[in-house]
Order: sequence, then C-alpha cells, then structure tokens
Amino acid sequence: KVRTRFAPSPTGYLHIGGARTALFSWLYARKHGGDFVLRIEDTDLARSNAESVNAILEGMNWLGLEYDEGPFYQTQRFDRYKEVIQQLLDTGHAYYCYCTKEELDAMRDQQMAMKVKPRYDGRCRLRGEPREGVSPVIRFRNPAEGITVVDDMVRGRVTFQNTELDDLIIARSDGTPTYNLTVVVDDWDMQITHVIRGDDHLNNTPRQINILKALGVEPPRYAHLPMILGPDGTKLSKRHGAVSVMQYRDDGYLPQALLNYLVRLGWSHGDQEIFSLDELIELFDIADVNHSASAINPEKLLWLNQHYIKTQTSDYVARQLSWHMGQRDVDPSTPPPLRDVVEILRDRAKTLVEMADQSVYFFKEFDEYDEKAAQKNLTPDALPVLQALHAALDALGEWSAEQIHESVTGVSERLQVKLGKVAQPLRVAVTGGSVSPSIDQTLMLIGRERTLSRIQKAAE
Ligand code: GLU
Repeated sequence: KVRTRFAPSPTGYLHIGGARTALFSWLYARKHGGDFVLRIEDTDLARSNAESVNAILEGMNWLGLEYDEGPFYQTQRFDRYKEVIQQLLDTGHAYYCYCTKEELDAMRDQQMAMKVKPRYDGRCRLRGEPREGVSPVIRFRNPAEGITVVDDMVRGRVTFQNTELDDLIIARSDGTPTYNLTVVVDDWDMQITHVIRGDDHLNNTPRQINILKALGVEPPRYAHLPMILGPDGTKLSKRHGAVSVMQYRDDGYLPQALLNYLVRLGWSHGDQEIFSLDELIELFDIADVNHSASAINPEKLLWLNQHYIKTQTSDYVARQLSWHMGQRDVDPSTPPPLRDVVEILRDRAKTLVEMADQSVYFFKEFDEYDEKAAQKNLTPDALPVLQALHAALDALGEWSAEQIHESVTGVSERLQVKLGKVAQPLRVAVTGGSVSPSIDQTLMLIGRERTLSRIQKAAE
C-alpha cells in the first residue's frame, strides 16, 4: 500500500513551497488509494515552536489536505531513535567519535591547504578511544567505496560516490539524534513507500539510503521536487509578496484556487489550466513533474481565483467569505444569507477581500457616504425623489426584487425623472457609494427596514 508523508519542520508558517510538497504527497497517496501521514520534525528545539506547529496545521486544514495519520512529533520519539542508534553501534555501523573541535578544525585546514574537499577523515573509526572530558558524538560508518544510486522519480538516476559522503554525525554529544537519523527511523517505522520532498534534500538522500541499508531496510522510492522561484527567477522570498499559505487566505483567495495554482508549479497536463480535485487525483503523476524550477505567477493565481469565485457553489464560496466577514465585525449568521450575497457579487469580485468589502453594508450601517458620490447624487433635487421612493417602498406588500423594481420604475415615471436619477441617489442612500449590483437585488438583500431607515436618513 502506498504511504506518503509531509514532514515539515515547525520553524515558521506553512509557506507555499511546503504546501506544494504536501499537495503532491497528498495527491500521490489519494491517487493510489494510499495513506498520507503528517509528521512534525521538531527536534531542533531552539528553532521549533508550538505556534509554528499550529500555523502548519491551520494551513493544511484550510487547504483541505487531510491526513490519514498523525500528526506525529519527533520530539516524542527520542527513545526510539536511541534504540536505533544503539542498534547501529552494536552492528558496527556506527562508532563513537572523540575528536575535539580543535582537531576537526585542524583537519579541515589541512584539507583546504591540500585543495581537497573538507570531510571527516574517519580517524575515530580505527582508534576511537574515550578521552577525558570529551563527550563523544556518534557517527555513521558510511561505505568507504562504491556508489549509492538514487533512482529518483522526478530526476531519474542520480549517482553519488560513497567517498563523497563522509561519516555523518547521527547523535550529537548531548545524545540527541540528528536530522538524517530521525528521518530514516521515521520513514522506516511509518512504512513510508514514497518520499516526496523538495530537491534541497537530494544530497541527504544517499546518506539516508546508506543508513537504511545498514539497518537492513529496503529504502522507499524518492521524488525530489524542483524549487519554486520568484517571478524574477531568484529564490522565492518575502520580498516577492505573500509566501505563507494563510496570507493567501487573508488576501482573499479560495483554497481551491490556491491548490490549482500550486499543482501547476512544477506539474502540467497538456495545456489544461483548471483542474477539479477529482481530476487532479485522477490525472496527477509524479512522472509528469518538471525537472526545472518553476516561477510563481501572481496574475495567474488571481485569474484562477476569479474563475473559482465565479464557478464554485455559492455555499462553498460563502463558507470562505464568512471568515472575511468576521474580520469586518459582521456576524455572518445574521441576514441576509451569505450565499445570496455571493450570488449577486461573484461576477464583480476577483478576491474574497473585494467581495467582503463590497458587502458590509448588507449587514451593518455604514458611517459615512462616499464623498464624491454624495456630492453628485444626494442633492436638493434628489430630496423629493427619495421621499417618493420611501413612500412607494414602504407601501410594498412583498419585499421581492420584482416588486422593488416596479416601485422604483413607478417613481421614475410618476415624477418624470430619468431612471438613473432615481436609482443612483437611492443607491448612494442605501449603500453609501455609487457602485453596487442591480438596485432591486441590492435593496432586496439589505432588507426593508434597513432600506427605509437609510432612505429617511439620506432625505433629512
Ligand atoms: N523537515 C524537513 C524540512 O522541513 C523535511 C524532511 C523530509 O521531507 O525528509 O525541510
């Protein structure tokens, strides 16, 4: 059974590179009817914190990347790592190293002077002897010759000379395990079949394979994903704009749009741009992942977002919009129903931030009119119009879009004022500004009471 994992280190928020890794691992598991495991790699106690763990869980949850197992925490597995380190010591695959910092520095200086790549020369392999006052580290005894092959699902066959891989430290002098050891033990214990991760880890992979072999364990398959770059082709960073997943939520993107966008960073299927989740699960294949890095493209994300706002069910969009309304001190469970708001605004907003900004007046009173709009429309001429509208709307039997439409056109006919000269003052009176969906639908959602009191206020 296929088992994949996402193994973030909780040292910040969930950024889009991590989210893409998670998405590809999730898709691969879903496609093959397998399991997706979440593992928090929090052994770096100085840099990990609970806040980052929460940020990662929040991001995964918002994106809808649900995991079948976990989250597992590496800090809760120290006993198990100790056990495996002991096993490696017992079988001669690991040894204590008593070299002091001075000794290691001298070794490096000498190698640099001889113009060879600095590496631990393995001296404690042969004569590692306890020394007074030195707490030893534990090193893995890497094969001294031959090659290690990574048969990567994205990059193909990548070969490493074992002489290039020095005897890496698997336990620090305080006994804590290092990254390469913990990953190996976890991938083994969690029976991970496919390790899908960023290609910044490619150089660790032969080391991990060698440790697994020393433990007599068949290594999983590996897929190393190409980097994500900024639009200018340099390493993605904060100066390129939003990099945290939750920032995209805050900026008004739908999770669906972000997923569609993320999957296209490094993966393609012909020239298709829009993919439903079901389609992705069906079509996704690691073999189709690009070998080269891909650059983020904010305009494309905006385009996708607009597409999804237009085409997703109003319930789905309303659920996402609801958070943004909360941010604007609107209780989204009060009328009008958020999905009706979505229905009338979905063609007019590229983001949920725009949509939320345009819909606050449906739920609560605004403090002031848009200055230009008021100057132009709430003129003395408009007074009788507003009074007539108030009377006509107050008399309506049924508060429906058709009825509202009829009474507005009725006022325009009776007073012999062009429809625009009726609708526009009305719009400013009830929304505070000069832009809104059609006036009958707008009034309908604002509701009778609010509409009447706002017209009255504007006519004062
Ligand atoms: N914890 C590592 C990271 O955040 C990932 C390790 C892995 O996927 O093997 O970069």
